[in-house]
Amino acid sequence: MHAALHRLCRLCRLALLPLACLPSAGAWAWGDVGHEVVALIAWPRLTPAVRDKVTQLLATDTQPFKMANGQMTNASFANQATWPDYYRSSQGPGGQPYQQTHNWHFVDIEIPGGSLDQACFNYPALPPELPASEGAEEDCVVDKINQFRQELASAATPAAERLLALKFLLHFVGDVHQPLHASDEHDAGGNTKMVSAPGIAAGNLHHYWDTEFVLAIPAPQATAEAIAAKLAAAITKTQAHQWSSLDPKVWAQEANAVARTKAYGALPPPKTVGGKSTYSLSASYVGNATAAARVQLQKAGVRLALLLNDALK
Ligand SMILES: [Zn+2]
Repeated sequence: MHAALHRLCRLCRLALLPLACLPSAGAWAWGDVGHEVVALIAWPRLTPAVRDKVTQLLATDTQPFKMANGQMTNASFANQATWPDYYRSSQGPGGQPYQQTHNWHFVDIEIPGGSLDQACFNYPALPPELPASEGAEEDCVVDKINQFRQELASAATPAAERLLALKFLLHFVGDVHQPLHASDEHDAGGNTKMVSAPGIAAGNLHHYWDTEFVLAIPAPQATAEAIAAKLAAAITKTQAHQWSSLDPKVWAQEANAVARTKAYGALPPPKTVGGKSTYSLSASYVGNATAAARVQLQKAGVRLALLLNDALK
């Protein structure tokens, strides 16, 4: 769930500080965990027939990509869920393909007062015959999920585009459930707010929600597999039923509500340290945020499976 980097880069382009855009290795690995958790929760919820179709589609992928740990991969369902972040960053912040998919990872509903429609650039129509992977730069994650879902469901979609649709969906369903991918308080989605908390290295608010609150979920190990196993086992039938909306607008509004109440609404007053506003998060903020991240990941996993089961039925 890694909007941190591209949001920072948007800022540093404005500030003409290109060196500040260089990713740190650490920033990468962690962002992947949330996406892998979502995919690992979704996988056993797919029907056997859909699992086969997904496996067959991913097997046609001839473009391996390099993970943060140096591993080259294009094979696993969970790893594929991280691909759009690597794809985007591989082009660099000034590159045309980077720009093309930059906005698709989030829906920046402004706090206060912003609307979903504004944050989605009023849903630019996809011209006939143009694949969703080549659609307008100014589009949001909600609209892209709907476009790629249609492509995945249609037998008329060319095979290469269908594969791309699947790869983007595996990632974007996760992104739209990250509260700071569905909100903005004129702070680049939390990237410009510095925070600290007991036992967690100081960082920015977006990174905390991308990563630290995911890793804080109690599990035998802080790995995607262990966290996903814990979360998957705890999903009840009633919850899965309550979460069964297939409308990404609903998903975005829910994530935005979490951001308003738990991410931004619960922040303590800032202190000024070295000329910067910083927020010292309490143990109770961290506990509530971790619980919220847990539910958001569970919802994303359930909904990714629903969406794939529906599109590939
Ligand atoms: Zn992303």
